[in-house]
Amino acid sequence: MTLKLFDLSGRRALVTGSTRGIGLALARGLAGAGALPILNGRDPDKMAEANRQIGAGDVLMFDVTDHEAARAAIDRYEAEIGAIEILVNNAGIQYRAPLEDFPAEAFERLLQTNVASVFHVGQAVARHMIRRGRGKIINIGSVQSALARPSIAPYTATKGAVANLTKGMAADWARHGLQCNGIAPGYFATELNATLSADPDFTAWLEKRTPAGRWGRVEELVGAAIFLASDASSFVNGQMIYVDGGITASV
Ligand code: NDP
Repeated sequence: MTLKLFDLSGRRALVTGSTRGIGLALARGLAGAGALPILNGRDPDKMAEANRQIGAGDVLMFDVTDHEAARAAIDRYEAEIGAIEILVNNAGIQYRAPLEDFPAEAFERLLQTNVASVFHVGQAVARHMIRRGRGKIINIGSVQSALARPSIAPYTATKGAVANLTKGMAADWARHGLQCNGIAPGYFATELNATLSADPDFTAWLEKRTPAGRWGRVEELVGAAIFLASDASSFVNGQMIYVDGGITASV
């Protein structure tokens, strides 16, 4: 009975940047709770492969930095196929360089991909959700929503902004029946941080620094996503759930 609170049967869930890594794991996990995943990406071959792995679901091709294309694809899907009831703003990139040498172009690309997309895709989907008086938005932040690390200051700025944009979405849209929250992952060995996972010194540092003593597994983000996508979180608004093995809880 209580488990019904977490049931996502028949709900369409758009996950941006879901051709691999955390996005793909979340799409698969939400599908496991009954949702119909809508995969998103910008490369048709990667999309086809991800869709093959998931088995069932829809595909929405757009680059999250192309705001007009994103909005058009979302409006067309809503008009022709069905309601997007869950949105996971997951697409994101990383770029590492000492702050004094950080290329301006990379800074702009980080802002566009990690923050502006959350605003534009979020707004495009929320307009339909507001009309229906219900919806779930989950923004993917990071440990860097709260803490900095050398060489990734702009990424840190974007993820801090995602946490505050999440609060802003809640402030504006909770009254319309939407729950807007975020998940802040710790360290997960995906392509985004392949440089780090290939470095034994980093892993040794991470295992010491993280109370849980290890890297996270992408499947370990699914529980928080199901909670935030489901009726179980009907009065939760503007929160970030840190799934990080305790790294932000300790010095
Ligand atoms: P990956 O690099 O493994 O995957 C990123 C996904 O986003 C890919 O599917 C990529 O597709 C897609 N993507 C990137 N840019 C765009 C774009 N402009 N339009 C559409 N899709 C795009 O990264 P992760 O899975 O590790 O990261 C996912 C999210 O989680 C990011 O927001 C990241 O910041 C966050 N995060 C990750 C952590 C980790 O430890 N891995 C920790 C904390 C947060 P394509 O192949 O086309 O590039």
